Amino acid sequence: MIYSPEKYRIADKRMQPFIDADEIWDYINNAKADKSRVREVIQASLDKKRLSLEETAMLLNVTDPELIEEIKEGARTLKERVYGERIVLFAPLYVGDLCTNNCQYCGFRSSNKDVKRITLNTEELKAEATALVDQGHKRLILVYGEHPKYSADFIAETVKVVYGVKHGNGEIRRVNINAAPFDIPGFRKVLDAGIGTYQIFQETYHRPTYEKVHLGGLKRNYEWRLTALDRAQEAGIDDVGIGALFGLYDWRFEVMGLVRHVNHFEAVYNVGPHTISFPRIQNALSLDISKDHLVKDEDFIRLVSILRLAVPYTGMILTAREPAHTRNQILRFGVSQIDGGTNLELGGYSKGKQETQDLSKGQFQINDNRSLSEIMDELINKSYIPSFCTACYRLGRTGEHFMEFSVPGFIKRYCTPNALLTMAEYLEDYASEETKEKGYRLIDEKIAELSRDQRVERLRNKIGQIKTGQRDLYF
Ligand code: SAM
Ligand code: SF4
Repeated sequence: MIYSPEKYRIADKRMQPFIDADEIWDYINNAKADKSRVREVIQASLDKKRLSLEETAMLLNVTDPELIEEIKEGARTLKERVYGERIVLFAPLYVGDLCTNNCQYCGFRSSNKDVKRITLNTEELKAEATALVDQGHKRLILVYGEHPKYSADFIAETVKVVYGVKHGNGEIRRVNINAAPFDIPGFRKVLDAGIGTYQIFQETYHRPTYEKVHLGGLKRNYEWRLTALDRAQEAGIDDVGIGALFGLYDWRFEVMGLVRHVNHFEAVYNVGPHTISFPRIQNALSLDISKDHLVKDEDFIRLVSILRLAVPYTGMILTAREPAHTRNQILRFGVSQIDGGTNLELGGYSKGKQETQDLSKGQFQINDNRSLSEIMDELINKSYIPSFCTACYRLGRTGEHFMEFSVPGFIKRYCTPNALLTMAEYLEDYASEETKEKGYRLIDEKIAELSRDQRVERLRNKIGQIKTGQRDLYF
């Protein structure tokens, strides 16, 4: 038995469902998007205050094109002012696609009998992690279907295998997971294996829709999923990622659900989630959903901007589900993490770059198939600082986004120097000569922008050490 929802649901008040659909609709139906109030709300966010549900609803209700532009501009300013130009890079690694659930939007759903199910064995997993190390990756998220085979022990073991992979100068320094929810002892096991973030998406916060699209398996239980991160907290995992799958229900409701989830976290555990994800539904094998709630590009930009303003200290992830031009555009509105060189086929990284996608071999279609080196080159061209930094996590500085946000000077003292150090490692070990040259020019420019304190000298020294072969240096 993987879990016993009744036991945990009743046992702990903190694990009561916290989403009240009527309350959310009340806010949406009654929050007036008055011009001066909207401007005050944008300013509050720029002053680093997390927005209330009512304030968020107000932004969601804005229809005046001029005010929508101001919301987007607010998000852009917040991103630049608070986070600077760093973009953290990672890759997903699919470990197994066995799945007992029947989620109507997912290619791995149990009713898709044509999918040849694969679970990587230890050697295959090592080969995949090695291929990603050889691209230059340092941060992975391991992904699993929901199946009795993928127990907490199994997942903990796969995490350890990936941490054990070393190749050339490279290694994976942070392993996050996206897996079905565990019970508290299960969460402890994966914590002990050294996971970074535990990520799980509610998919939709709207219970009737949730029940409509989850047709079979353990995932049908809305509350067990909604309270997953409470159990993770109880087990000691305070580094968690939330998300909603946009396109299942009204996008305004889902934004409110995400903000309510953040409130719940802050109220009960005094810490917000580490990251928020906002995937949009993509094509998948036998995709079977209504098209009523698919999110248009312009609404997608709006929702990302509103989320940025509503939860200003939380990392935001935008994946290769979106095409390159959409990703490039949306990066500016507050995204802090993207994946690069993504391949969803099980065992796909060891086979090399995927030219065409076969929907029966992946969970869904991705629309940005640029390699990591292409993405690095583009980020450098646009003066972003690509980062593979894992320093906070490894030094036990959890809540790093919160520190970036709330500790004055934290970014200049830690984040930017560490990002530049990991960028230098990448340039030495994986970049073409051309990218290397451009990259070091950018590093020089960014160092020149840092304040002239002792740390700049130490940073220059460390970059010198990287050039002579040392690795894994950070502040
Ligand atoms: N089995 C785990 C679970 O359900 O939590 C792992 C989930 S899956 C590997 C990661 C996420 O991909 C899901 O939570 C869902 O939001 C998203 N996803 C599933 N089908 C999708 C589709 N057709 N388009 C875009 N995202 C999708
Ligand atoms: Fe299984 Fe997750 Fe896909 Fe649902 S979303 S069918 S649980 S892999």
